Amino acid sequence: MTGMLTIAGLGPGDAALITPEVSAALTEATDVVGYAPYLARVPSREGLRLHASDNRMELARATEALRLAFEGRRVVLVSSGDPGVFAMAAAVFEVLEAAPEWKDLSIRVLPGVTAMLAAAARAGAPLGHDFCAINLSDNLKPWPVIEKRLRLAAAADFAIAIYNPRSKGRPDGFARALDILKDAGCGERTVIFAHAVTTPKERIETLPLRQARAEMADMATLVIVGNSTTRRVGRWVYAPRRAS
Ligand code: SAH
Repeated sequence: MTGMLTIAGLGPGDAALITPEVSAALTEATDVVGYAPYLARVPSREGLRLHASDNRMELARATEALRLAFEGRRVVLVSSGDPGVFAMAAAVFEVLEAAPEWKDLSIRVLPGVTAMLAAAARAGAPLGHDFCAINLSDNLKPWPVIEKRLRLAAAADFAIAIYNPRSKGRPDGFARALDILKDAGCGERTVIFAHAVTTPKERIETLPLRQARAEMADMATLVIVGNSTTRRVGRWVYAPRRAS
C-alpha cells in the first residue's frame, strides 16, 4: 500500500457542507487523525482507525499523521472549516520542514467551507468588498501584533472576520479588541456575531459595534466587523461593491 496524507476541511458543521472531494477521501481512508469533536463528524465504518487528539497538540497531531502515511497508511487529517485557515495544514508543513525524510510523501490539501464564509452567507454579503481575517488567539503570536493588525485593518477600512475571539483561557482579549476598534472610530460599524453556524445551536446577532459586549462571543463564534459603508437591508447585511 502506498501511503498518502490528505489534509481536509470538514466545513463549519453541517454535513451538507462537506465537499464531495473530502467525502471521497474519507471513504478511501484507512486512518483519520484529528481533534476528537471533529472525528465525531466523520462517518464511522468498519476497519477505519480514528486517532483522536487534544486541541492544543497540533504539531504532535501533524507528526502522527505524517508518520502513519510514511508507514503506508491512507491518512486523512481533519480540521473544521478549511484546513488552511488557522488550522492543520500549516502545522503539517512546519513539521515537514524539519523532517527531510518525509519530504517525498504524497500530500494533498482539500479545501473546506471556512467559518467566515458560512457566517457571511447567513448574514447576507458582509464580505462583499475588501476584507481581512484575524485570529485573536495569542497562543502563537504576541498580543501587540494582534493590536497592530486590528488598528491597521480598521484604518484601511477592511471588513474584519475575527476567528477565535474568546475562550476560557483567553477571556479578556476580545474586550480589548472591541476597545481598540472603538478607539479607531469603528463604534458605528455593524458587527455580526455568528455562533455555531450551520449547527443546531446556530445563533446570529447583528448590532452596532458600540453596543457589542465581549460576552457575546465564545470559541464557537465568528465575528464579522463591517466596513464603514456596510449597510442593512431588511434582515440582511451587505458591503456595497463600490468604495470611494
Ligand atoms: N479552520 C477553521 C477555523 C479554526 S479556528 C475554519 O476554516 O473555519 C476556530 C474558530 O473558527 C472558532 O473559534 C470560531 O471563531 C470559528 N468557527 C469555526 N466553526 C464555526 C462555526 N460553525 N460557527 C462560527 N464560528 C466558527
